[in-house]
Amino acid sequence: MAKNIQAIRGMHDVLPDQSARWQFVEQEIRDVLASYAYTEIRLPIVEKTELFKRSIGEVTDIVEKEMYTFEDRNGDSLTLRPEGTAGCLRACLEHGLLHNQVHRLWYYGQMFRHERPQKGRYRQFIQLGVETYGMEGPEIDAELILLSHRFWQRLGILDKVELQLNSLGTAEERLVYREQLVEYFTAHSEQLDEDSQRRLGSNPLRILDTKNPAMQSLVENAPALSDALGEASKAHFKGLTDTLDTLGITYTLNQRLVRGLDYYSKTVFEWVTTELGAQGTICAGGRYDGLIEQLGGKPNHAVGFAMGMERILALLETREDLEQIQTVDAYMILVGESAVKAGLVLAEKLRDRLPKLRLQMHCGTASFKSQFKKADKSGADYALILAEDEVLNDKISIKFLRSEQEQQSVSVTELIELLST
Ligand code: ATP
Ligand code: MG
Repeated sequence: MAKNIQAIRGMHDVLPDQSARWQFVEQEIRDVLASYAYTEIRLPIVEKTELFKRSIGEVTDIVEKEMYTFEDRNGDSLTLRPEGTAGCLRACLEHGLLHNQVHRLWYYGQMFRHERPQKGRYRQFIQLGVETYGMEGPEIDAELILLSHRFWQRLGILDKVELQLNSLGTAEERLVYREQLVEYFTAHSEQLDEDSQRRLGSNPLRILDTKNPAMQSLVENAPALSDALGEASKAHFKGLTDTLDTLGITYTLNQRLVRGLDYYSKTVFEWVTTELGAQGTICAGGRYDGLIEQLGGKPNHAVGFAMGMERILALLETREDLEQIQTVDAYMILVGESAVKAGLVLAEKLRDRLPKLRLQMHCGTASFKSQFKKADKSGADYALILAEDEVLNDKISIKFLRSEQEQQSVSVTELIELLST
């Protein structure tokens, strides 16, 4: 017998018993985004490989070893998007959206990275990305943090997350700092692990981000980036922290928060949790003014973040009230041949009159008892029963599955009245 084909390692199905949960989260998120007047942009999943090399940077983990890159039939090198920032900016530049305009955008969809699969780390995963363009001051940095804060509030996970903040200054300031770091780490090169040795030449700031316990004290004593920041960068960061203080948003300053991507400047932030093991960052972002020019645009401003939806869903696992999200309001039980046709007619009528009603029909012959069990299991509030008696008398029996209320026999008009309350 042929072997069953299985999904690709690190790529997951969301099964029907989980999809209501996803939809709940997605709806909450959309509502919050709308309340800040952000609009959706829909982008291709595949882009030219060059786009990611130029934006994310050649010496980042993503470009060095995580991209799904392939040759198209006509020889072009294409890549399944590993993140959305580059494609979003590419689209906005291509369609002239960045000229003297301000935009607040979001996108939602699959990203692909060839990483080692583990809890909270997959090869296909979903990100919500939020990107804003054309705003220079720290107010927009603050707005993005407030918006994400509201996500956690709405999803009931605010007590599980912590905000970490840092400023990376400008590219020029980082260049000076980079030299100080290289000097410091070179002087202690015997303490660097293999990864860090490699990064010393290519991306020394990333050494600060090491998870290697043996290197912690080395990293802690490294020169601080905050000392290398100029007045304007310091003022921007203070503008942000002052706003957060005013609004009562608590945060931790983390000098070692450098982010994996090359394109950040000034503000960077992460929302982290201790409840998901090593994969603790659920949302990460910051300012990336320089990327627009890097991709061929005029000098401009950009701030954004991306959040990993699987990690958010994992955090929500502890919310028991979401365990059984109801997807059926009423279940129609049909007994006898005449009831089957009459039931279909009635169901369509109900759907015409009550477009929000989620009505599940029984299909196929089965005893009343077995249909009733299915009605109960469906999670519906009501069983609508049509047997030959009801058909003859033009009535429907309604049984209340989640309350003590007694079964009633009602007319269609009465039923519609009942179900619409
Ligand atoms: P990490 O340090 O966990 O590798 P990252 O810095 O590579 O994260 P970003 O590129 O900033 O992640 O992506 C933003 C968010 O997307 C992350 O904070 C995380 O929640 C999620 N994410 C990133 N990679 C994956 C993955 N392979 N599987 C699931 N979620 C992911
Ligand atoms: Mg990563």
